[in-house]
Amino acid sequence: MSKFQKEFEKALKLIEKSNNILIISHKNPDGDTIGSNLSLRKVLICDFGKNVTSVCADPLPKSLLFLPDSNVFENKIDPNKHDLIITVDASSVDQLKFAEIDEKFLKSGKAIINIDHHPTNKKFGTLNIVDENASCATEILYYFFEFVKATIVPSTATHLLAGLYNDTGSFMHSNTSSSSYKIASKLLEAGAALPRIVKHMFKTQSIEQLRLWGKVLSNARLNKKGTLVSKITNDDFYETNSTPRDLMGVINYLNSVSRSNLSILLSEDMEGHVKGSMRTSKNDVNVASLCEKLGGGGHKKAAGFTIPGKIVTEEVWRIEEE
Ligand code: 5GP
Ligand code: MN
Repeated sequence: MSKFQKEFEKALKLIEKSNNILIISHKNPDGDTIGSNLSLRKVLICDFGKNVTSVCADPLPKSLLFLPDSNVFENKIDPNKHDLIITVDASSVDQLKFAEIDEKFLKSGKAIINIDHHPTNKKFGTLNIVDENASCATEILYYFFEFVKATIVPSTATHLLAGLYNDTGSFMHSNTSSSSYKIASKLLEAGAALPRIVKHMFKTQSIEQLRLWGKVLSNARLNKKGTLVSKITNDDFYETNSTPRDLMGVINYLNSVSRSNLSILLSEDMEGHVKGSMRTSKNDVNVASLCEKLGGGGHKKAAGFTIPGKIVTEEVWRIEEE
């Protein structure tokens, strides 16, 4: 029996009485939020016969276009047209980036199911299925599909496995659990296209991206306390003909420095903001709480924030006696 038995029952009831369902992925989407959206979409259409609209405020990165049905996403919403909204892998309303879903809308009592695994989740739904022990949102959906006895066709298995691979960093991050492996095994049996996931999500890079990553790596600085910082400005994007999305994944290299207790990548976003990504491999450092103080959030070992501003270089000189 699932620990979310009651929540799953409530979700099932909400789904059964709805006709038009809106599924929202978070901004700047990754394989987990997109895999969650597309797998749930398939089940709601094929097993429940619902009308489903899948949306994401930002376009999908190239690395996810191989996913079956990746072309269904819309970027505008009219939430009043839908009788149920389901958000996937989003810890807060900000992460959805749809102005229509604001405080006032949330207070209207519209049915919203919030399916997520971030410990900093703001529980903004009318029903919150938030499991911070799940390695990814698709893991929660896997158990939900099992609960409703949904048919896992090969494309659904690929969507779910993409979420697992994305958030566990190919089963290398500390959130990888026996449950992640169990589910992965079931998904492979159900026909998930593992070679395509590996090829497109982890082994395909453009020369522009490589040049940008070169800048990230050469800008890295490590202080005596083990804080490693690197930065990318808008000029770096222009010089390498790349975009902020091309940064996805590079922070894992920064975090691989053995003397680093905390790795931070600061990057400008071409729209007057600085995005910070933080990672740690230490159990006694909690980057989610650090990022929360800056208005962001995430997981204990992987979190981020965005603040208005730009990156200013500051040089400090000192004399050390021989
Ligand atoms: P990344 O550094 O790869 O952008 O994000 C790492 C993790 O932190 C992801 O789980 C992401 O959802 C979360 N995260 C990143 N930026 C923000 C933010 O501004 N707000 C919140 N709530 N979570 C964030
Ligand atoms: Mn996730």
